[in-house]
Amino acid sequence: MATAKTAIHFLGEEMRNHFLPEKMMQDVWKDAYSYYNTTALWKRHITLLKKGLFAKEVTEHLSKKTVSRLYGKTFLSSVSRLERFSACPFAFFAEYALKAKERKLYQLQIPDLGILFHEVMEYFSKELSEQNIDWKALNQEQSDQMIEKAVQETAPKLSNQILFDTAGNRYLLQRLKRISKRAAWTLAQHVQMGDFKPYGAEIGFGIEQTLPPIVIQLQEGEKLLLNGKIDRVDILDKDGKRYVKVIDYKSGSKEFDYTDIFYGLQLQLLIYLDAFLENNHQQDDIIKPGAVFYFRMQDPSIHIKKEMSAEEIYAALFRELRMSGLVLDNVEVIQGLDHIFESDEEGTLAENKTSSIIPVSVKSKGVLKETAQVASEENYKKLMAFAKQKAKEAGEALLSGEIAPSPYRKKDQTPCEYCVYHSICRFDTLSAESQYRLIQPINRKTFWEMILKQEKQ
Ligand code: SF4
Repeated sequence: MATAKTAIHFLGEEMRNHFLPEKMMQDVWKDAYSYYNTTALWKRHITLLKKGLFAKEVTEHLSKKTVSRLYGKTFLSSVSRLERFSACPFAFFAEYALKAKERKLYQLQIPDLGILFHEVMEYFSKELSEQNIDWKALNQEQSDQMIEKAVQETAPKLSNQILFDTAGNRYLLQRLKRISKRAAWTLAQHVQMGDFKPYGAEIGFGIEQTLPPIVIQLQEGEKLLLNGKIDRVDILDKDGKRYVKVIDYKSGSKEFDYTDIFYGLQLQLLIYLDAFLENNHQQDDIIKPGAVFYFRMQDPSIHIKKEMSAEEIYAALFRELRMSGLVLDNVEVIQGLDHIFESDEEGTLAENKTSSIIPVSVKSKGVLKETAQVASEENYKKLMAFAKQKAKEAGEALLSGEIAPSPYRKKDQTPCEYCVYHSICRFDTLSAESQYRLIQPINRKTFWEMILKQEKQ
């Protein structure tokens, strides 16, 4: 650090660290502090730094009048926004009410890549249907060619051609292509290994969308209108019943997680399934939940402990992209998702099998393993009702004017990690008022016990 002007930025950090138990300010910084504090030119800066150091986080509630001017009587929200609110009300407020935006830098951001993955997959699905190619008949060469074209068409629209501008970004483009090719071909194989048929991609629900919004009546007469876009819906028609599978593509490492559902942090899949089922209620008696899944669009990696053939490595990587979610506890659905479970005897599952597509394993005598992620139809309905109840609670809390920074903490995971509003929310764990909402992980058994208990109350 060469000048007093640059050094004062570091001094601010040192002053903050001074309050941490094991990080006392070093003598050189104490001297620097005395210098700035006793020099007329800099004293004002030190006063400001001290003010910032002891500033309190935002704790106010919005007034009824302000809430009504901001959101009105009918509040339209996507499911992911509600999840954002459940993660931290202030982050929601800053993003959707204040519409505070980060200064746009000319660089590729992680969310940009997420958008691009979705666009590539949407293009891919459209091409398949326009060229009248059945997912079941698709081969890897065709799949790769379509992704090549999809990336070429969609990437230039992203951030002013940014992906072509530097060697680093061009490498990123190659990586994006590689991940998309693997994802598309994996998804095609998933379809080919079962009986579910792709029904639609990017199905919107909301105002002026393919499906109407989900309407949730709130206290005091307000309404919450939920919208969203379902990445893909597949259908299995079997013996007069129609089973629905909903897939959400995720560019991160998202897993279906009971803790997150319980705390309203993961509502998308269940509400999307509910939206689809509700809007097909003319077939109410025959349309049923089949499965909900996250499909992760990422570069899979494996640990190689012994020598493996190319086929074994391919199979291990394929397994790494197994979907995460919940399956209806029904033999036809499980077999319809993965033929590996077909057995000679009708109505039973093949024994000692583990799927490389879905989170289901079967032990001897065709009994599901404890780890199989399944739920009965009755429990599926309870789960969808619970997700809607969580959405209602979040809607009511935000319409009551809640905006205080109140991030959760689950083990060492917090929403602050990638939040861009840190500089304005004043949430600082050094202050006694700023404490995380601690979330204890909930396992599946406890989750179901709590859901059933809540239902009885
Ligand atoms: S940094 Fe954390 S506390 Fe602050 S707005 Fe973001 S999520 Fe909330």
